[in-house]
Amino acid sequence: MYGPPVSIALVLDVDGVVCPTSGLSPFGEVVEVGVALRPVQVPPLLCAALADLAALPDVAPAWLTSWLPQTRRAMRPPFPGPEWEQIELEPGEGWPKWSALNAWLARNPEITRLAWIDDDLAGRAPVHAEELGRRGLDALLLAPTTDYGMTPSDISRLKHWLTGHP
Ligand SMILES: [Mg+2]
Repeated sequence: MYGPPVSIALVLDVDGVVCPTSGLSPFGEVVEVGVALRPVQVPPLLCAALADLAALPDVAPAWLTSWLPQTRRAMRPPFPGPEWEQIELEPGEGWPKWSALNAWLARNPEITRLAWIDDDLAGRAPVHAEELGRRGLDALLLAPTTDYGMTPSDISRLKHWLTGHP
């Protein structure tokens, strides 16, 4: 990698975030990008928006998902970020994604801001946001509805948080 280390992490789950489990998205059209146990459908407009945000300066995109890396990389475009880092799940107490995220943050101390989007954050977000804040991290945690994934308003909020612009 060239240049100074990036300081903003954009951490994304797959199911219930990029892939609405109902096959319906508030972004409209969905397209099939491959098979992972069942056909995987994603909204191209959401995928493009995420790819744009991930390409912003100072933003390091990463996947945090129970999907195997090879399954994710086998998805066809417009599935975003085949080359983004995938945070490895580590066995630990409690929710494996939380321990994995913490281990990853410990290995990446240059991260000062964290956007984390996972439908499983529903109910967990306030506790985890408070804990991250106590450690001095500026954190935005979003929990989309599993059935529909991220919405245009989630993207607006994320974009505003990342850029300071609406
Ligand atoms: Mg999920």
